[in-house]
Amino acid sequence: MSMKYVYFFGGELTEGDTTMVAELGGKGANLAEMTLLGLPVPPGFTITCQTCLIYQEKGAMPTDVMKQVRENIKKVESLMGQEFGGRENPLLFSVRSGAPVSMPGMMDTVLNLGLNTQSLEGMIRRSENPRFVYDSYRRFIQMFGDVVKGISHDTFESLLSNMKFEMGVHFDNELTEEQLKLLIRRYREAYVRAIGEEFPEDPYVQLEQSIEAVFGSWNNPRAIKYRSLNHIRDDMGTAVNVQAMVFGNFNQNSGTGVAFTRNPATGEDVFYGEYLMNAQGEDVVAGIRTPQPINSVNRDSASQKTLEELMPEVYRQLDGFRLKLDKHYRDMQDLEFTIQDGKLFILQTRSGKRTAPAAIKIALDYLRKGMIKEKEALLRVETTFIDQLLHKQLDPEEKYKVVATGLPAGPGAAVGQVVFDAEAAVQWHKKGAQVILVRNETTPEDISGMNAAQGILTAMGGMTSHAALVARGMGKTCIVGCNTLKIDLSARTATIGREAIKEGDYITLAVGKRGEVILGELPLVEPRFSGDFAELLAIADRYRKLQVRANADTIKDSQQARQFGAEGIGLCRTEHMFFEGNRILAMREMILAETLEARKKALDKLLPLQQGDFEGIFEAMDGLPVTIRLLDPPLHEFLPRTDQEIAQLAEVIGMKAEAVKKSAARLHEMNPMLGHRGCRLLITFPEICEMQVRAIIGAAIRAANRGIKVHPEIMVPLVGHVNEIRYLRNIICQIADEMIAKSDKKISYTVGTMIEVPRAAVAAREIAGEAEFFSFGTNDLTQMGFGFSRDDIGSFIPEYRDLGILPDDPFEHLDQQGIGRLIEYAVLKGREAKPGLKVGICGEHGGDPSSIEFFHKVGLNYVSCSPFRVPIARLAAAQAAIRAERIIKN
Ligand code: PEP
Ligand code: MG
Repeated sequence: MSMKYVYFFGGELTEGDTTMVAELGGKGANLAEMTLLGLPVPPGFTITCQTCLIYQEKGAMPTDVMKQVRENIKKVESLMGQEFGGRENPLLFSVRSGAPVSMPGMMDTVLNLGLNTQSLEGMIRRSENPRFVYDSYRRFIQMFGDVVKGISHDTFESLLSNMKFEMGVHFDNELTEEQLKLLIRRYREAYVRAIGEEFPEDPYVQLEQSIEAVFGSWNNPRAIKYRSLNHIRDDMGTAVNVQAMVFGNFNQNSGTGVAFTRNPATGEDVFYGEYLMNAQGEDVVAGIRTPQPINSVNRDSASQKTLEELMPEVYRQLDGFRLKLDKHYRDMQDLEFTIQDGKLFILQTRSGKRTAPAAIKIALDYLRKGMIKEKEALLRVETTFIDQLLHKQLDPEEKYKVVATGLPAGPGAAVGQVVFDAEAAVQWHKKGAQVILVRNETTPEDISGMNAAQGILTAMGGMTSHAALVARGMGKTCIVGCNTLKIDLSARTATIGREAIKEGDYITLAVGKRGEVILGELPLVEPRFSGDFAELLAIADRYRKLQVRANADTIKDSQQARQFGAEGIGLCRTEHMFFEGNRILAMREMILAETLEARKKALDKLLPLQQGDFEGIFEAMDGLPVTIRLLDPPLHEFLPRTDQEIAQLAEVIGMKAEAVKKSAARLHEMNPMLGHRGCRLLITFPEICEMQVRAIIGAAIRAANRGIKVHPEIMVPLVGHVNEIRYLRNIICQIADEMIAKSDKKISYTVGTMIEVPRAAVAAREIAGEAEFFSFGTNDLTQMGFGFSRDDIGSFIPEYRDLGILPDDPFEHLDQQGIGRLIEYAVLKGREAKPGLKVGICGEHGGDPSSIEFFHKVGLNYVSCSPFRVPIARLAAAQAAIRAERIIKN
């Protein structure tokens, strides 16, 4: 028996179903499924993906394929009461690709197949609409010529433009029947010139060649590139769907439309859609005519005629299909329909695109009705939706031109007037302006300006650069590493790509997936919260295994984090506390101090500030763990740079400006990120460690005295060797134990380490002997593991991604194959040495859903991320747990 290459769908004869995606592709399986459901799908057949693979290998289709195709055409003919390419009542086909994974627009399509000189006449007689038939024929010649024979699209397009020019018209649809006939003649001549033979008349020849062309398009360069960028396997092949054509522009009694089984903007349970009479789908998209509402749900004015009024019977049928689809797919569907000469056809149904509030409402509605389970409801809501609910976004209806892109560092969208320094940001903001701070890069000095701005745009930097970290912590819109931004600070102007801007001009930042910069002021939509949001996250909390903590350095951020559901603080960057107001002066004084005495004097100023903050954070996190990291200032971020900063510091510490400048110069490092920072600074200047431990334990005792339950976790940064943590642990414990012993409070604290130097991951077994917990600093671990500077990556990562060298920015999504293996190994070895060792992650990946899935798999106890990403992490952690469970079960 010969192999089965072709599967029929239509009426009672359907052979496939939704489970056959590997054979029939997504579209083919869905067409079969819709037909089985009893929807009036134009009949047709699907040639399998496996046939495509044979075609690719042998360069020809197996001989039986066309035999099976002919048999299936007979079935379509009898269902439609038409004849393929026939003279009386001609049947035409569409030939479309359809891989198992959606690859929109990457492969080829041929429409109106079967038109020739004799079927043309039949169509004209039937439709009484010759203009439409000639137009269909000229489109067919163009598509066939382009897709099947490789004749450049421009060849036909220029003939069309010339014709419009000659006839003095602007739009294709203004060409008359006679003019279209002439155009067809020219198209056919061009075809002969290019191919050396006549345009094929035999519909079976047209069909066979079109099927082969669509199979061939699986390996066109565009499709290959798309697969490589989207991690889609090359060995699946595409199916080909050959389906009877129906026309919404057949005559006055025909039309086409798109409908959603619910309102896609709000999620409301109403039928929502638009239609156009005597039109094809592309007329709706081209925007030449305005579609009308199908019913009164989205009718704007009484003058609009709804489909319900115009064709009540067709509408009634359509509404019936809506209920059927809703019940079957248990999700909002987006369906395309066509009415040909009064008869309704459903061409497609798929899960519909929806806004964030609609996604949550729809998932919960189906859950409440008992149509889906909790786990399914959780998987239905994309984590990016949570982001949209927390931040302003660009109005999705808006059309705009992107002048540059950068890395999507902070969330949401922002509009404002350009300012080029922090000072101006603060001043303009005070006067009521909304500003976007545009800088080469940011430093701690810019914090107040960042705070005053709606958004931040920088030319340099990567996803874990200063600007990115701080902006994300603040929940501020931020794009970094925008390579085409060139700032002339003295002229207070800049160029972005080819556009020139000056201070005060409006720009819009829309972060999304690729950090878009737009000139001018675009409307934004406000974030919308609802009770549904909290309910969904409460359900997520029941399924996740990972705990979710926050990275927070201030009392305000800690309170915010708790409101968003954080279960503690996973990283308090103590150096960030000195970003505010004049605190940075004390910090700089400490860094620049050249004697122990001078440093102690500066530390004495810092101690009460830190202790006060810690106490507030303990209070905000009453009953929950708080991980406080000892000082880790990469020196370059904190040294004074400008003359003004130097003069200000000189005055405070009573030194000459020149001397301050010299001290700062002495501290200059070639590679500050690999320099005198983290535990190295604490070991060489133990008095810093001592001050900080005093501040932490002092704050804990004071808070405990006020009845607050404190769980301090003291964390040492940048450890690479066990001796580093051993050395510091002794100092920490000595001071802490002494202070606790003197108080009448029983405070228990732990000492742990960050794992952010690759050597620490490799030596995790030894290090675990000295640490009560590990927290992965995946920012530095990525930086040092890859050897990519986290502040300079913006200059090459976009190209790396375009070339497919790296699939993603590894500072945004964890590189699981490389850095991830270090993490996996460290968890294994750490827990071998100390079973039950608590392990978390506090790098920026802690708020990234794909990385969270990995952290779940390797068995971490918690992830920690900026407060605004806590809700995302809660949902992502639940989804990770549910997916992992499904994989095990399967
Ligand atoms: C890290 O390196 O991942 C980390 C959390 O520390 P920081 O970003 O402060 O260097
Ligand atoms: Mg670090």
